[in-house]
Amino acid sequence: MDIKTFLITGGAGFIGSAVVRELIQNTQHNVINIDKLTYAGNLESLASVENSDRYTFEQADICDAQAMQRLFETYQPDVVMHLAAESHVDRSIDGPAEFIQTNVVGTAVLLEAARAYWKSLQQQDAPKAEAFRFHHISTDEVYGDLAENEALVVKSQENASPLTTHHSLFTEQTPYAPSSPYSASKASSDHLVRAWQRTYGLPTLVTNCSNNYGPYHFPEKLIPLMILNALAGKPLPVYGDGQQIRDWLFVEDHARALIKVATEGKVGETYNIGGHNEQTNLHVVETICEILDELVPLKADEDVQASSPTIHHSPFTTYKQLITFVTDRPGHDVRYAIDASKIEHELGWVPQETFETGLRKTVQWYLVNETWWKRVQDGSYQGQRLGSL
Ligand code: NAD
Repeated sequence: MDIKTFLITGGAGFIGSAVVRELIQNTQHNVINIDKLTYAGNLESLASVENSDRYTFEQADICDAQAMQRLFETYQPDVVMHLAAESHVDRSIDGPAEFIQTNVVGTAVLLEAARAYWKSLQQQDAPKAEAFRFHHISTDEVYGDLAENEALVVKSQENASPLTTHHSLFTEQTPYAPSSPYSASKASSDHLVRAWQRTYGLPTLVTNCSNNYGPYHFPEKLIPLMILNALAGKPLPVYGDGQQIRDWLFVEDHARALIKVATEGKVGETYNIGGHNEQTNLHVVETICEILDELVPLKADEDVQASSPTIHHSPFTTYKQLITFVTDRPGHDVRYAIDASKIEHELGWVPQETFETGLRKTVQWYLVNETWWKRVQDGSYQGQRLGSL
């Protein structure tokens, strides 16, 4: 195998750490992880690979042009995978400025550092310049809301379930129509990447993927929030009527897809990545409850004769009784769903997990990795900050 050096931005985040683990554990490639370690960066997600001599961590901000230039010159990467971003939609509504800075300005700074490095490669090492790739990782949220686009189509079927009335999917040709400051900032960064390819010839690839879930996901996100709230006997807050539809992708399937695109994808192309798992938010929460009912059964206090560590004493008999409907957030898209046929046909990638198998693995991971999530919840994971280099 042709051994490459991957420069990964945001490698201490949820998806980035899955990509780093996959590269170190299942390939021979080298990894340079560049991460600012914002609240979302957690080096404890990389404990299983941090001692590998093929892995290097550098704490740096992608908005810092000098630092980016130095890192490109020092490590001479073959592939850049750009995942660093502010990624939480609710936070973008409360404070959009940081999203513009990291997602838009940071991407422009990184593109310029990559372009300068790639130009120098063209003079010094033409085959390496020829093989260089800049892979930008983005979201299906740039396409906006499928349900809105289809409102006319479904008007006559108002009483039917959204899952049976909506049939179209986001393709690589779907026009951009972002709704939130987060998705607008990601859309901007996608346009910048394509402009650097069209204008300067930088060999770029873009992927847009659906909602990820899986191990090492921060407790503020829907699936871990529901698992951990349920285990703590707290309410399970569902926005609006819970009928918003998301297409769920197991993070390890996504990591494998990203590495395939970065190494085998065609320059200048966009690939959508999805898991064929359209679910309403309410169905997701109910399925988590069903898995927990099976794995960590609740037992009403009065029924408990002998105490058991696997049985939670509670006034409820199923976790579903914790579900609480809360006011929907502004601009909440009703439906996202992705057509991943291009990456399947052209690169031969298919997800290994169904929603049921992936969700079960995820719930089981949270049950046995209490130390990881407790240190995120109490903030002690941030003690691993190294200071700027
Ligand atoms: P995350 O928030 O878990 O991780 C982001 C990482 O980027 C963190 O480690 C953080 O410290 C780092 N970072 C933030 N600002 C930085 C900066 N200025 N310089 C260097 N590092 C910085 O995000 P994620 O969920 O892993 O998402 C990764 C990428 O995938 C993002 O670009 C996101 O838009 C995209 N994406 C995510 C999802 C999803 O479901 N999570 C879906 C589609 C696309």
